[in-house]
This record gives sequence, structure tokens and C-alpha cells, in this order.
Amino acid sequence: MNKKKAVFLDRDGTIVVHEPYVSSPNQLKLLPNVAEGIRLFKEHGYLAIVVTNQSGVARGLFSEERLMLIHKKLMSMLKDEGVDLDDIYYCPHHREGIIEQYRLECDCRKPKPKMLLDAAKKHNIDLTQSLMVGDSVEFDMQTGKNAGCTSILIKNGCADDTNSNSISGIDYVVRDLLEAARIFTKS
Ligand SMILES: [Mg+2]
Ligand SMILES: [Zn+2]
Repeated sequence: MNKKKAVFLDRDGTIVVHEPYVSSPNQLKLLPNVAEGIRLFKEHGYLAIVVTNQSGVARGLFSEERLMLIHKKLMSMLKDEGVDLDDIYYCPHHREGIIEQYRLECDCRKPKPKMLLDAAKKHNIDLTQSLMVGDSVEFDMQTGKNAGCTSILIKNGCADDTNSNSISGIDYVVRDLLEAARIFTKS
């Protein structure tokens, strides 16, 4: 069976407006052109998979159950725009967390590539044909590099390190998801 390609998407600052530690479904606000961008990627054969660090769980700011509700809402907001996500991976851990069961130096927190590697196994994805899109150089661009994907930086002022586009590991810099999708689907 032929391997698939995927676009791995950071959540906060990439799909939804970045708020420090989103803890309620009502806080979610889609960024401009997100649904259009994901739709275009999907029309061209990409799986759309969210990979997000959510250390707020380890930090005791919200529960994993709450995070599930937030992700359910995210999926339904996108569905209202005619777009289905193929999967969502999250890392609830942090080595300085206060909730015992999540306080660890895990393998999944970006920039470690485990969420992408797990998704690749589950969905039969060719990582070398896949993309990592995010607004953080330190976390997302490095993750893409570590997983062997092409790294695309969204430069929209959400993350604090978006001035560093000279850092190696960034393959493209775009305004939003739609611009990324247009480049890779030549539309
Ligand atoms: Mg982000
Ligand atoms: Zn983790």
C-alpha cells in the first residue's frame, strides 16, 4: 500500500488564536484562512493531523477530560466549515508539572518527534513527504526537522520567537495556513 503524506499542524497560534493555556472550549477562535488552508491540503491528498503540547494538564490548569472537550469543539468548529481533521495528538506532560501522573520528561513533548512518529505508524505516513506547520521555531520547526518533515513557519505574531527566520531548520515562512497550502498544492 502506498504511503500517505500528511500536514502536521500545531494548534495554538497556528489553527486557533494563541491564548496562554486555553482551558475552555469557549476560548477557541479559529485564525483567518485556517479552514480554507486545511481543506486545500486535504483536497490534494494530505492527512491533516494536529500535534500539540498541552502542558497545562501537567501544570494543573485543566484536566485531560477538559482538553478532550476542547478538541471535540475544535473538530466541530472545523466541521462547520466543511473540514475534518484526521487525528489529534497531544502531550499533557511537563517535567515541572504539579500533577504527579503527568510530571515527567516524556518522549512526546515537541520538539521531540514522537507524536509524528506515532501518527506515521498508525496512518501509514511517509514523513519525508510530509509537512510540519507551526508558529514556534523552538518547538514546531525543530520537531519537523527531528521527524524528517519539511518545516513551515507561520509568522503571524502569535509566538514570541517568530523573528528568528534565519535559524536553520525552517524551510518556508508563510503568513497563514492557506498560503502554506497554496505553495504545496500549487493552487
Ligand atoms: Mg503554537
Ligand atoms: Zn508528553
